[in-house]
Amino acid sequence: MLKLFNSLSRKIEEFQPIKPNQVGFYICGPTVYNDAHIGNLRTMLMADILRRALEYNGFQVNEVMNITDVGHLTSDNDTGEDKMEKNAKNEADVLAIAKKYTDNFLNDLGALNIELPSKMPKASEHVPEQIEMIKTLIAKGFAYESDEAVYFDVAKFPQYNKLVGQNLDDMKLGARQEVVKDPKKKNPVDFVLWFKAVGRYQNHILKWPSPWREGFPGWHIECSAMSRKYLGDNFDIHAAGIDLKFPHNTNETAQSESANGKPFANYWIHGEHLLINEGRMGKSEGNFITMQTLVEKKFNPLAFRYLVLTTHYRSKLNFTWESLAAAQNALNNLYQEVSSFAEPKVGCAQFEQNFLEAVNNDLDTPKALAILWDLIKTGEFPTSAKAQTLFKFDQIFGLKIKETWELAKKIPESVKKLIDERESARTAKDFTKSDDLRKQIETAGFFLEDTVDGYKLKKKY
Ligand SMILES: [Zn+2]
Repeated sequence: MLKLFNSLSRKIEEFQPIKPNQVGFYICGPTVYNDAHIGNLRTMLMADILRRALEYNGFQVNEVMNITDVGHLTSDNDTGEDKMEKNAKNEADVLAIAKKYTDNFLNDLGALNIELPSKMPKASEHVPEQIEMIKTLIAKGFAYESDEAVYFDVAKFPQYNKLVGQNLDDMKLGARQEVVKDPKKKNPVDFVLWFKAVGRYQNHILKWPSPWREGFPGWHIECSAMSRKYLGDNFDIHAAGIDLKFPHNTNETAQSESANGKPFANYWIHGEHLLINEGRMGKSEGNFITMQTLVEKKFNPLAFRYLVLTTHYRSKLNFTWESLAAAQNALNNLYQEVSSFAEPKVGCAQFEQNFLEAVNNDLDTPKALAILWDLIKTGEFPTSAKAQTLFKFDQIFGLKIKETWELAKKIPESVKKLIDERESARTAKDFTKSDDLRKQIETAGFFLEDTVDGYKLKKKY
């Protein structure tokens, strides 16, 4: 039975889907005005591991990830400049920027062996659905209009703070200094559902007609509208990075539950921060690391995946170049060990049982990795059994263990010839020649080890 920490109850709970064997799963996706940094990618890996764990347990997962390509503002309070439009002069520019960074993001997912969601809807292509939901909120008395915007009336939703579990007074709320205050806004905590293209937003590039005035949607309404469209009013799991819990996920919940009159997501799964040298990562800190940065430094992107697996998703991960190098080393050792494994046959039941328990215990990937290494090191099983079980583990790890093993099996003819020559030299007890041939084999990228059952060939990584 899969158990997960639910941010909503702040407890570990047994996962029970709404429909048997099926899971509706929503994850807040990227804002495509810039490349994703490795902190964002850690969240994507957390969601991927969760999805793989659900599939491993036999669930069919319908995963939806939004692409924010409109109206994402720089501050937490729907204020400040629009990041999407900052470097754009016209609509074609905005769309070109969004396309470029969406493509880059998809490449990052591919490099990290993240399974693509079933749907990746774009906010800009779902404006009518967002308008529809705002209309419902106004009709039900949860929203009001001023000259500048349509706001959600937080006072009408008494459970507003249920996800963060703090009193509103203790939360850092209210307009920031740079905000031009709207005199008709009832409460500083009220957030924008629709921006009218007036005043400071008069020249906003992307705008749509609406019942209120031409304008563009607020920061949060897209996730409520698109999750409803693709997963229904009430669905199983909503995942996000911890920094989105407030205000974004809190506001999504308020909008959806008020508009639909039903509970929103049953399980909220939040992934912790990634720190760089114990500090925050950001453009202003000058340590904004992307997948491109890792590739330029000659790391295998899957080394980052391995590094993420070494830390539980609810713990902060402190990224350093040394820790990434150690992860790359461990991954290479793993590939090297597996390269000598025989064709998979009957697996190791006890290891598989322990592995499943670790995964189902709120995705304990550090423990699952320890089990992987125990399996590699044990003398109890033949490599055919280890291969069978490891390939199964990799359905969750996603480290391309089987693919690497298959590649390693393709031994070049030249190396095969050297091995045959060395076997003949050994039979003839010409150890000088056999040692020399072993060195040649190593130069060609393979290690040859002699065992009681004959030689063992490992590929060098
Ligand atoms: Zn969202």
